[in-house]
Amino acid sequence: MTEETVKKQKVVSFTYTILDENQAIQEQSDLPMSYLHGVRNIIPGLEKAMAGKAIGDEFEVTLAPEEAYGERKPNSIQRIPAKRFNNAKRLQPGQAVSIQTRQGQMQGVVVKVGRFNIDVDINHPLAGQTLTFEIEITDIRDASEEETAHGHVHGPGGVEH
Ligand code: ZN
Repeated sequence: MTEETVKKQKVVSFTYTILDENQAIQEQSDLPMSYLHGVRNIIPGLEKAMAGKAIGDEFEVTLAPEEAYGERKPNSIQRIPAKRFNNAKRLQPGQAVSIQTRQGQMQGVVVKVGRFNIDVDINHPLAGQTLTFEIEITDIRDASEEETAHGHVHGPGGVEH
């Protein structure tokens, strides 16, 4: 039996914990997430660190913002009609939200809640931070032809459509 390792055209499943510079947990997976390796489905520094790893490998990697979620961009506050949120009345500044934009689904942070509009900073909540990723690889398999054509993973942990 040949051991599967992470390389191009492999679907990789992993669990993760993301720690900030103060070792505080910023994000943690409950179920493994899956991605298609080699097509930048995940942040560049993490994809680089994944290459060559095997099922069961645990490792950690610390990434500067440019290899993680990028630097914070000024002028990235978007004013969005409150009616586009189904929970607008309960939104609070500082809360993370996901919004639909022309570029697709994006994560943002509420900066101001008005009566008719919500201002959302669409910098990724983890932009501008040096982050440590603790990773455990739970599965590696070949991508299907369809997944390769779409450039993403289908099924559990991936895109459902
Ligand atoms: Zn697809």
